[in-house]
Amino acid sequence: KVKTIAIYGKGGIGKSTTTSNISAALAASGLKVMQIGCDPKSDSTTTLRGGGYIPTILDTLREKKNVKVDEVIFRGFGGIYCVEAGGPAPGVGCAGRGIITSVELLKQLRVFEELDLDIVVYDVLGDVVCGGFAVPVREGIADHVFTVSSSDFMAIYAANNLFKGIQKYSNNGGALLGGVIANSMNSDYHKAIVDDFVEVTQTQVVEYVPRSVTVTQSELQGKTTIEAFPDSEQAKVYRALAERIYNHNDSKVPTPLNDKQLHEWALKWADTLLAIETGEVRSSGAS
Ligand code: ADP
Ligand code: SF4
Ligand code: MG
Repeated sequence: KVKTIAIYGKGGIGKSTTTSNISAALAASGLKVMQIGCDPKSDSTTTLRGGGYIPTILDTLREKKNVKVDEVIFRGFGGIYCVEAGGPAPGVGCAGRGIITSVELLKQLRVFEELDLDIVVYDVLGDVVCGGFAVPVREGIADHVFTVSSSDFMAIYAANNLFKGIQKYSNNGGALLGGVIANSMNSDYHKAIVDDFVEVTQTQVVEYVPRSVTVTQSELQGKTTIEAFPDSEQAKVYRALAERIYNHNDSKVPTPLNDKQLHEWALKWADTLLAIETGEVRSSGAS
């Protein structure tokens, strides 16, 4: 059976960058990979295809009925099968139609069987409250869910919301959590914040990914770092992450914080950060 992974995180946190580098690393090692972008931005696969956009499944279905495989699946770096689910027009909710419709169409076209894939990676916008983002979790479309988070509180809030969704559907065949991909980790306290969050929510960090201009340079060339700078330190990190994710098998139900707990947790870290910034430890700060 093909392995299916979903990667979540708030908008702009680095989901597509991370996902594309994982796909590229796995494809470079000889695996057959499909990447499905589930974000109205529909730019998940651009760095796998020289910076270009591909038509989305929702847009294509709006134009015609009998859609063929080569109208919705496009080849990218290392032969990766690239798909963009697409989303509704701005301001119009879709309650997950993009993802559901795309998976239904791909099943109907029998691509999962016929392409003989090793892994399918979904890149899903997960900071929304519309409920649609929960679809891959609820329906168990993915075997394992990972979330990209930095040490920023808004990213942690989004991750905690995802954990609530996973916990909620875990008794009914929903997907379980593999762990957190810690992005933009450039100092010990960035790591300490994410480490503390995964400890209290009983999950784990899969990899610490630094913020690096190598990523920016690659993106400006329309490429992943794996393609543009395969010998860089950043590419090494992405390869290690890809290997962990590909070999990952034991996902779990996380223990999300409730609103009050999350608020107190954030306050504690805000105090600590203030102390670091001002060079003094305040009496009320964490010691
Ligand atoms: P998302 O898919 O979550 O909306 P993107 O992957 O598009 O986010 O990333 C948003 C921006 O952040 C992009 O310009 C990307 O190049 C940059 N970025 C993400 N991760 C890193 C990193 N580790 N180092 C440097 N830039 C990064
Ligand atoms: Fe937007 Fe929600 Fe639809 Fe995603 S599922 S495209 S966030 S309305
Ligand atoms: Mg994205």
